[in-house]
Amino acid sequence: MLPAWKDFLAKPITSLKGIGDEKAQLFAEELGVRTLGDLVYLLPLRYVDKTQVTPIAQLKSVGSGDVFVRGVLRRVNHIGTGAKRRVSATLQDETGQVDLVWFRGGYYAAQSLKVGTAYSVFGKVNIFKNRASIAHPEISERAGANETFEPVYPSTEKFNSKGVNMKTRRRMVKAIISLLEERFPGAEDTLPGYLREQYRLVTHTKALHDLHFPANHDAAHEATRRIKFEELFLFQMRQLWGKYQHDRDIKGYTIPGPGKIYNQFVAEKLPFTLTGAQQRVLTEVSTDLTSGTHMNRLIQGDVGSGKTIVALLAMLMAIDHGYQAVLMAPTQILAHQHFEGLTEMLKGTGVMLAFLTGSTKAQQRAQTLRALERGDLNIIIGTHALIEDPVVFKNLGLAVIDEQHRFGVKQRAKLWRKNKPHPPHVLVMTATPIPRTLALTTHAELDVSKIDELPPGRKPVTTRHIVEKHRSSVTEWMRSEVEKGRQIYVVYPLIEESEALDLKNVMTGFERIQERFPAPKYHISIVHGRLKAADKDFEMDRFVKGQTQIMVATTVIEVGVNVPNASVMVIENAERFGLSQLHQLRGRVGRGAEQSYCILMTDGRLSDNAKQRIKIMCETNDGFVIAEKDLHLRGAGDIEGLRQSGQMLFKLARIPEDEVILNVAHEEAKKLLSEDPEFVEERHRGLKLHMREIGETRRAWTQIS
Ligand code: ADP
Ligand code: MG
Repeated sequence: MLPAWKDFLAKPITSLKGIGDEKAQLFAEELGVRTLGDLVYLLPLRYVDKTQVTPIAQLKSVGSGDVFVRGVLRRVNHIGTGAKRRVSATLQDETGQVDLVWFRGGYYAAQSLKVGTAYSVFGKVNIFKNRASIAHPEISERAGANETFEPVYPSTEKFNSKGVNMKTRRRMVKAIISLLEERFPGAEDTLPGYLREQYRLVTHTKALHDLHFPANHDAAHEATRRIKFEELFLFQMRQLWGKYQHDRDIKGYTIPGPGKIYNQFVAEKLPFTLTGAQQRVLTEVSTDLTSGTHMNRLIQGDVGSGKTIVALLAMLMAIDHGYQAVLMAPTQILAHQHFEGLTEMLKGTGVMLAFLTGSTKAQQRAQTLRALERGDLNIIIGTHALIEDPVVFKNLGLAVIDEQHRFGVKQRAKLWRKNKPHPPHVLVMTATPIPRTLALTTHAELDVSKIDELPPGRKPVTTRHIVEKHRSSVTEWMRSEVEKGRQIYVVYPLIEESEALDLKNVMTGFERIQERFPAPKYHISIVHGRLKAADKDFEMDRFVKGQTQIMVATTVIEVGVNVPNASVMVIENAERFGLSQLHQLRGRVGRGAEQSYCILMTDGRLSDNAKQRIKIMCETNDGFVIAEKDLHLRGAGDIEGLRQSGQMLFKLARIPEDEVILNVAHEEAKKLLSEDPEFVEERHRGLKLHMREIGETRRAWTQIS
């Protein structure tokens, strides 16, 4: 059940006087506004400052801003007919004259104008041929009564032509707010009073009022601050409470640390010493596994930081105690690489592995599935195919998901249900570092571990930006690298919207490279999304084995592929890639002992944003720095995880801009939960109502899905 005032805000806007179906449709189509709540949360773009009257003579120096002027109407002309019809008028004060114009339907507003009468006029000044004019001004006979800040809402031409002007819009909002104030004077504020006091936040009702009709700019600012705080605080509350419930209600298998297989592997097989960071993360994982609660952990580590071995060691712990483990990767190629790598490392340990993807042959598949269900297999490696229904485990103890940004929430849930009575522990690995701000908004339900150290001996990749006209020197240099026995990636963008054209570019590029690097001396591989999986694997395989020197590809090679001998990455049309993607691609090289290079090719005509991205790439190799910059360059709206998490539902708060408020809200939410996790205290009553409401929505949602 919703609190009464929220019920009220959920009503359609047709419940307002004067708003019929036609106007309601206009609001829905043009602005997505359907309910009273939609309307009050649709914020003003700006405010009109009617406290200052500008002398008309000064309009030219105002340029193109909003102005408020007062004067006597000297002339009104109706010009043209039909669609071309417009109304032009002249307003005069002691200092000069200004033209007022209405066109394309806007002339309704000008119909009743009387020459010789004094008017207050508000609008945006236009200067053309040294003459000031105001198009579609707001005009009123009243003088003085409007001396306030007034909201200007997002609008479209259609609103004008349907006779819904700013004045009407204001009246509608004002009516809703007055009703709210009258009917629900003591509306339960979801923000506890002590937080409002501590951070000097106005009440919810006051905030709504001041968002629309503030006395001055400060009041508007305070109202905004209050609503942002509320949004971010409640969001953190929900996330953290979800995690609290998870830890309270969900038990996991107790896997008490390393056993025989693990110890034997470390003693006899582990080909290197773990870095400090790997060791630390492994300890965090084994603490989870030992604890009896259910692990839901994210490991962040830059490309090449050695996440795989940490995952393998965790899997061995599970196997040591009789559980099975699964390792899922987003692509066939990656899954297969993992399978080959792990098979090699686990030779002689007695651990049984299998590989399963969508293209595994029926007979093989049936056999693997049987072995899995009987418990004859310890580890299964593959793609999404692993979460399909026919895949049944005997006792799945640990699920590792590599490169999780390709996995959706639903898929993870499916994985959870793969085991009874407890879900498998979940370890998610990503090479896309998530800035703290984002982690708070998208991953609050996960515990996060960081591998923030690369294995010793890695040489940082040297990155250069080269423009098209110097391509021949790049080609010559590539030839000299190939002569030294190195392998090269050449990567092209392939974006869905321009797929046909992009594919053509890849093919043209491939042909050009074949001309410059002719057989039989040179061999070139090509991989793109249109190839059949088997062909892709074949081409990839030739490159991995060193049978081809150059791999021309689209971004299918983006994640995880490991070819230590490949030391050059040429990225074509680099300006078309996002920062994180460029960094991921670059991570394909720099895996061997050789000095590696990343060449960013562009035609040199770059937007400011693209220039920034390329510059950052040339300056740093640090994935955490890049992720931070990426977030600020793109804004959160563009980032996949954020849209998924529904954070774009914030009405006012913006990530990353409001990260300071977010951090405070996070700390307060955490503190509150540690003190009163079940909301029994009186001071958390409003919040409790809100959380219950969320709980109910969530239940309703899981019932339909
Ligand atoms: P990623 O984190 O990108 O998945 P990988 O797990 O593929 O990285 O590791 C990259 C390479 O580094 C692999 O060849 C792996 O064997 C090697 N490696 C991992 N850890 C270490 C270490 N501690 N010392 C030396 N080499 C390591
Ligand atoms: Mg990896």
